[in-house]
Amino acid sequence: MKRYLNHYINGEWVASTGSETQPVINPATEEQIGEISLGTKEDLEKAVQAARDAFPHFSAMSQEDRVKMLEDIAAEYENRKNEIIETITDELGSPLEVSENVHFMMGYNHFSQAAESLKNFSFYEELEGHTRVKETMGISGLITPWNFPTNQTSTKIASAFAAGSPVILKPAEQTPFAAFILTEIFDKVGVPKGAFNLVNGSGKVIGDGISSHEDIDFVSFTGSGATGEKIMKNAAENITNVALELGGKSPLVVLDDADVKEAARAALTHITNNTGQVCSAATRTLIPSSMKEEFEAAIKEVLPEFKVGDPRNGNHMGPLISEDQWNTVQPYMEKGKEEGATLLVGGPGKPEGLETGFYAKPTVFTDVDNQMVIAQEEIFGPVMCVITYDSLDEAIAISNDTDYGLAGYVYGKDEEKLRKAATGIRAGRIKVNDTPADFAAPFGGYKQSGIGREWGDYGIEEYLEVKTILGYPGK
Ligand code: NAP
Ligand code: MG
Repeated sequence: MKRYLNHYINGEWVASTGSETQPVINPATEEQIGEISLGTKEDLEKAVQAARDAFPHFSAMSQEDRVKMLEDIAAEYENRKNEIIETITDELGSPLEVSENVHFMMGYNHFSQAAESLKNFSFYEELEGHTRVKETMGISGLITPWNFPTNQTSTKIASAFAAGSPVILKPAEQTPFAAFILTEIFDKVGVPKGAFNLVNGSGKVIGDGISSHEDIDFVSFTGSGATGEKIMKNAAENITNVALELGGKSPLVVLDDADVKEAARAALTHITNNTGQVCSAATRTLIPSSMKEEFEAAIKEVLPEFKVGDPRNGNHMGPLISEDQWNTVQPYMEKGKEEGATLLVGGPGKPEGLETGFYAKPTVFTDVDNQMVIAQEEIFGPVMCVITYDSLDEAIAISNDTDYGLAGYVYGKDEEKLRKAATGIRAGRIKVNDTPADFAAPFGGYKQSGIGREWGDYGIEEYLEVKTILGYPGK
């Protein structure tokens, strides 16, 4: 049992001023694996003060020293590799392989990328009539969700550090332990005291406290739209800057010249990766009407490759994060049937033999109309909607008929069609076929998927203000 009852404030581990604790559950076993303190507004106040005190010297740290600090963090993060993998598997229920290749690697890549982006980043630019200076915005409050315990924390922290912004992090209660490891890493490499503060607690107390705090200059949030809306309303009272990375209902457009089996595999990968708990997952697969029968057969054929079960036992898909999440996802599986979609594979209930743990079945609905609830709402579980189209224009129109715009995926061969789909889908990130990830590429959403861009140099910009100086002396 991990009893992690301290917060990290001003370079020290300090006891919570509150006495409330929160159990942390392993979603694969349903057993308690530890507990954390639920911080209070008083704890948050101390952290804000520490960050404010750190601001003058941390924001003045040289670009070179900040690059070095980020490189040291990346190196120490690598030293803690096994522990990070084990911790994420226990708190999130993600298969060991996913914890390593996705979760561990994403955190590592964000710190390394921030160091690289910072090396070439220009904070000062002389133009004809004026000089532009980019300066640290101030101190930042970071609120992160449970689905990627090292990805969202790392991209925010790495960008903030690159920009010289002291931070207060409130990670999700369900998966808090990865953030303790990150904190130990920052402590070990000598991140200046007060530049990083960890306050655990509930969204209602600490999250709300961060977003309504008049001394916090920037709030970066990843999570649900409903919470994003509350944060934006709170922040509006003080005209605090916000960045929101919210949900999605991203399309995967399969062209008529695509390899059907590869496309079916790609579709199932999207809904099973991290048990479908991925904001940028494709959850609507658009296929040409003429491909329908072939595609359905291909889904059934490749489904056995996606084994569900114990994340420590070589399976591809672990459980959902919690009983609450399981209870949120299940009604959608019923809803799809009520709405008249055809349940091709999966459906409600737990997979056979997996009664303990919050396991769900990879579920694919066909004959889905894009107006159905299952095609419009973010389910955040292993559920795919298959929608047919008759022309590429129609596919693009269906893709865009959503409140969201986080990502889009295109599969096929014809370059002109690939380009047309890639430019036609209104979303912040489009991926064509199986192109590898690029951590320098900006990440963020159009429409209700959010505000702002993270990752790489765009991520750093979020933590900066632009100052223009007219008549800079000695220019
Ligand atoms: P959430 O409520 O938006 O939680 C995300 C973070 O915000 C957590 O740290 C949470 O704290 C905090 N929070 C909650 N209420 C807050 C408030 N009033 N003010 C400030 N911060 C607050 O998301 P969730 O409950 O974990 O998941 C609900 C749904 O959100 C999911 O089913 C999914 O659809 C969506 N989601 C999307 C993403 C994404 O990457 N886009 C990630 C996670 C979830 P706690 O520790 O109290 O939870
Ligand atoms: Mg919540």
